Amino acid sequence: MVIIEAVASATSATCPECSLPSRHVHSHRYRTLSDLPWFGLAVRLMVRIRHFRCRNEHCPQQIFAEQIPGTFEAFSRRTKRLNEALLTVAYELGGKAGVRVADALGIDIGRDSLLRLIQRSPLPSAGAVRVLSVDDWCWKKRHSYGTMLVDLEQHRPVDLLPDRNVDSFARWLTAHDSVEVVASDRGGTYSEGASTGAPHGIQVADRFHLLTNLGTAIEQFLNKHHRDLRAASAKMRQAAIEASGYQPREPAKTKLVLSQEAKRDRRKAKYDQVVALAGQNLTYKQIAVETGVSVDTISRWLRADGFPEWGGGVPVRRPSKLDRYESYLRKRWTEGYRNATELYKEITKQGYVGSPQMVRYFVRGWRESQSNKRLPSQPPPPRLREYLPHHLAWLLSQSELDDDDTKYIEQLCEECADVRTVQGLASDFAQMIRDRDGERLSAWMDRAQQSELPEMVSFARGLGKDLAAVKAGLSSEWSQGQIEGQINRLKLLKRQMYGRAGFELLQRRVLYSPARPRRHRRQCAGSSPPTTSGTEHSKRA
Ligand SMILES: [Zn+2]
Repeated sequence: MVIIEAVASATSATCPECSLPSRHVHSHRYRTLSDLPWFGLAVRLMVRIRHFRCRNEHCPQQIFAEQIPGTFEAFSRRTKRLNEALLTVAYELGGKAGVRVADALGIDIGRDSLLRLIQRSPLPSAGAVRVLSVDDWCWKKRHSYGTMLVDLEQHRPVDLLPDRNVDSFARWLTAHDSVEVVASDRGGTYSEGASTGAPHGIQVADRFHLLTNLGTAIEQFLNKHHRDLRAASAKMRQAAIEASGYQPREPAKTKLVLSQEAKRDRRKAKYDQVVALAGQNLTYKQIAVETGVSVDTISRWLRADGFPEWGGGVPVRRPSKLDRYESYLRKRWTEGYRNATELYKEITKQGYVGSPQMVRYFVRGWRESQSNKRLPSQPPPPRLREYLPHHLAWLLSQSELDDDDTKYIEQLCEECADVRTVQGLASDFAQMIRDRDGERLSAWMDRAQQSELPEMVSFARGLGKDLAAVKAGLSSEWSQGQIEGQINRLKLLKRQMYGRAGFELLQRRVLYSPARPRRHRRQCAGSSPPTTSGTEHSKRA
């Protein structure tokens, strides 16, 4: 530990009561303070504080202690700069991590003391907020929610409310009457609270949520037309295969089939021989000696109408869960899709409940057959993008699409003409948002109503419910992007504290806005001269 004894160098001090300077030292005492560490060693500062006698006879303050501004506060056991450093550590890292960092820096402090620093620091005031953004955050998912308020002009969170209800938000707005614009998600608690607390404020619906709602409506529409989506995909694939000159190949026969066919051929040869010998009026016994076929078999063969096939000519196989999917698997196999796991996934979607091993075993025969190996390898068939309603809903609102997407949507429009209508409505709505032109909204809503597509009609009706806010959302520059970022920061802080922090601690850490790094500040403000200390130091290691 380093102990530094310090004495103020000033020869006089000013009375805090009457502001008269005095040089008359009455007595002195030491104050012991912890300071920032020196080369990793803890520093104990022993400051000799002089007590002066006031020269003003009428002053009620007869004796006063000298002040050393900027160094420490009354009753504190740490210097101001140490407290500030620890407060920054506490805000940035919280209790446990803060203690570890402080320890690494050579500062000895406990977790509770660190958190107490936060709790004792003053809450920053909201100030005069003009454009307010409001959104909820979850304290405990599906259980309890809070409210975050962000000043969109100052880019900072201004307050945190422990709940999510109309009254508390309205009360907050009443207490902060500078608010002119309230941006929030669509409808619900906050728009109600804003109507109560700031009746003259302009409400702005969030553009991102508007687009999301539109996307949901389109997705519902597309889900109803899933057959058209599939048909368009199939046609696109067919066209691509034809264009690429890809020739699907029949899978070669398996070893099992080949051996079965060979057996049948041998048996057929025997049968023909038996029939020929019978034509020469030989007895069964003679034929048996000649051909090596048993008398019973010869008798059965000659009684039959023709060559009796084994098992009806089809290789006997026990029924399998895969039977229903065999034709599909063969089709995919000939198209060139030969990954058993992928094939398994595909038929699982169609309802297959067996194991992936069964599929692997099933197609192994096709893969293993010798003739397959001898054939020259073929380039794989062209792969096409898969279009799901969720992605397609987004694509339909885009003004610029790449070639593949354009072709697919063209094909889809051929399958179902309503898609064209939806695309027109969606891209115009998105364009309206990009142009910040809410004036076109009414005309757009009329068009949506006239389309008579239930999903679009219902979306347009929903817009009509909070028309003013939607219009403002389409026209104004404000959006909820910032608050989403702030809520992410809140989640990070919450998780850093392992969900054990109380609301007050979380509130303070969320509202804390870190000062810009000193290096950066100096570059911006021009170099400021180092502050001169009014104390002279003598070291007593
Ligand atoms: Zn005085």
